[in-house]
Amino acid sequence: MQRSDVIVIGAGAMGSAAAWELSRRGRSVTVLEQFTAGHDRGSSHGGSRIFRLAYADPVYVRLAQAALPLWEELEETAQVELLTTTGGVDHGPAADVAEIVAALDSRGVPSDVLAPAEARERWPGMRFDEAVVFQPGAGRIYARATLDALETCAERDGAEFRFNEKVLGFEPSSLGLRVRTAVDMYEAPVVVVAAGAWVTSLLADLVNLPAMKVTQEQILHFPPRDPFEFWPSFVHHSEPNHYGLLTPGEGVKVAEHHTGTEFAHPDERDGVIDPLAAMRVVDYVTEWFPGLDPDPVTSATCLYTSTPTHDFIVDRVGPLVVASPCSGHGFKFTPIIGKLLADLVDGRSFPELKFRLP
Ligand SMILES: Cc1cc2nc3c(=O)[nH]c(=O)nc-3n(C[C@H](O)[C@H](O)[C@H](O)COP(=O)(O)OP(=O)(O)OC[C@H]3O[C@@H](n4cnc5c(N)ncnc54)[C@H](O)[C@@H]3O)c2cc1C
Repeated sequence: MQRSDVIVIGAGAMGSAAAWELSRRGRSVTVLEQFTAGHDRGSSHGGSRIFRLAYADPVYVRLAQAALPLWEELEETAQVELLTTTGGVDHGPAADVAEIVAALDSRGVPSDVLAPAEARERWPGMRFDEAVVFQPGAGRIYARATLDALETCAERDGAEFRFNEKVLGFEPSSLGLRVRTAVDMYEAPVVVVAAGAWVTSLLADLVNLPAMKVTQEQILHFPPRDPFEFWPSFVHHSEPNHYGLLTPGEGVKVAEHHTGTEFAHPDERDGVIDPLAAMRVVDYVTEWFPGLDPDPVTSATCLYTSTPTHDFIVDRVGPLVVASPCSGHGFKFTPIIGKLLADLVDGRSFPELKFRLP
């Protein structure tokens, strides 16, 4: 029986961030991951993710503000660049943009409201025809590099990552919980479950979870017509919402938000690009991105795990700490979620944050 202070299930962004935070607090940590390091079957793979503070809800503006210094600390500790500030634009109906500006103002975050013509001049590769807000603190996160950095730093502080070890079940024990995998038995007073899209299949009998929706989303990268054009990260508040950013070495990522195929279980996902959805994005790029060649160069699928409100679950029930900070927008918060999970392991709670289990 392998014992440790904490068992973390899942070596995606959230589990790896919890492992780093807990191990640098001196806890012995065992991370159990069903697949290989950096696999592409969950939600954290690929080259890039958007970092932004521009949310209509001040709770997320505040959380992104709290994440920034922790990103810098991780970069410093791992000696690698993980977040590049490029600035970000949100554009769309004036009411949507006004809500974002109000939330940013309420948190003292600078932003510039631009007329569409000003924005077109600044970013000629993009089209704007409604309200635009530019947030200078937004940028690009290197997703794969983040997973590598978190694993390296956590292992340096003593954490043990066990890949290709699928957790099959739990048993209560005098110490806390026993965790059974296909390979071995583990035991700890606290278990952090950061299992992404598998959270329901793993915890349905143990925790009262909200209805989680698992969708296979897809992204495409397009080549810029002018290789020297500067690209901010972007969110277009439209029906459906579109988002994207430049991924160095791949092109400009453009994707729809929350339009993916729903799967009852993540193991059923097929990883196949939906050609009709891809065509919709090509048409969208043709219409909204004069600066891009609408012939995509790379594509990938990835899983969203969404709560009904698209808010996160970061909470504790007895020896179980539950992390489901996704709904397609969790990566930017990775290091602060790691800290919140470690605080929950240490017995702290955050009633002010609406990330409670029902
Ligand atoms: C296409 C796409 C674009 C996105 N863009 C952005 C963006 O621009 N900005 C942003 O902030 N966020 C974005 N996100 C969201 C972000 O990527 C996710 O919120 C985040 O990666 C979730 O990480 P996670 O650790 O919870 O999940 P995962 O990375 O899926 O990790 C869960 C891990 O648990 C493992 N696991 C599950 N069950 C078991 C078991 N029984 N035993 C052992 N291991 C198990 C899985 O194999 C997996 O590795 C995007 C997501 C997608 C899909």
